[in-house]
Amino acid sequence: MSGYLLEGKDLTKEFPAGKNKTVHAVSKVSLGLVEGETLGLVGESGCGKSTLGRMMIRALKPTSGEVFFRSRPLTAMSGKEFAAVRRSFQMIFQDPYASLDPRMTVRDLIAEPLETHHICSGKKEITERVLELMDAVGVPGDFLYRYPHQFSGGQRQRIGIARAVAQDPEVIVCDEPVSALDVSVQNQILNLLSDLKRKRTLTYLFISHDLSVVRHISDRVCVMFLGKICESGPTGEVWAAPAHPYTSFLLRAVPKADPKERTDASLLLTGEIPSPIDPPTGCRFHTRCPFAVKQCAEEEPPLRTRGERTVACHFPLDRNGT
Ligand code: SF4
Repeated sequence: MSGYLLEGKDLTKEFPAGKNKTVHAVSKVSLGLVEGETLGLVGESGCGKSTLGRMMIRALKPTSGEVFFRSRPLTAMSGKEFAAVRRSFQMIFQDPYASLDPRMTVRDLIAEPLETHHICSGKKEITERVLELMDAVGVPGDFLYRYPHQFSGGQRQRIGIARAVAQDPEVIVCDEPVSALDVSVQNQILNLLSDLKRKRTLTYLFISHDLSVVRHISDRVCVMFLGKICESGPTGEVWAAPAHPYTSFLLRAVPKADPKERTDASLLLTGEIPSPIDPPTGCRFHTRCPFAVKQCAEEEPPLRTRGERTVACHFPLDRNGT
């Protein structure tokens, strides 16, 4: 027994890219979610976060590797076995508008998962449940028969969240759920997600490129670079003392309101992210890392563990550490 509610082991996803080329989107990544926690998954766009998140709930088939849910092999389940646990998993997307059918009213949008999973039946009972869910996510019941285009972006995300929690899932993969929203609305949605997690004992895998957002909501954080996890640990500890140079540079790049706290631009990360079609040998970060030495280009650093922290670097920033 691993102690994880949901655990991915050695997950790899490759996509064909034409002319005998392959995109190495995720490469041998292992990831575990503890029941009731929010695990933040951060990294730049294209690093494989969303692909990994989708594999974790079997929304995408891995090229290799396995996922376990309550120690049962999710990836190896037959279609019938998976159908019995499918409602335990949900996703919340960046663009709620794209995931809401514009021809359906809010009532029908939220009723859909209730009907699909036979959670309740009968028009009256379903409408009552829809109203409860609207109340839980802060959408006024008066708006029951409105259409998605009649709502603001924040309200549409609330409707998307109501749809996600309607089927009482255990795990929700939140894929950049506030990236398209104004900062003030972002905070409201993050507070709503935290509130729902507490009340409904949910477990979140929270994917974002925005470190401030991840800091706000996550208990633990995993940092990804080019299809690999380079560091993980309790959010506060990683923020206070990042051990991987990439994490350190991501944190320096977070915009600061106080000019005195702003980072010298010369200390920020430069260069393009290497291509996942032809990832660098050794440490995948070595082409951008200011601390890289010959060994870094030749040997892949193993993911080493110390307490609750893991780091994949030959020379972690805490030289007295791992
Ligand atoms: Fe930098 Fe080398 Fe560590 Fe990679 S292994 S992060 S290149 S110091």
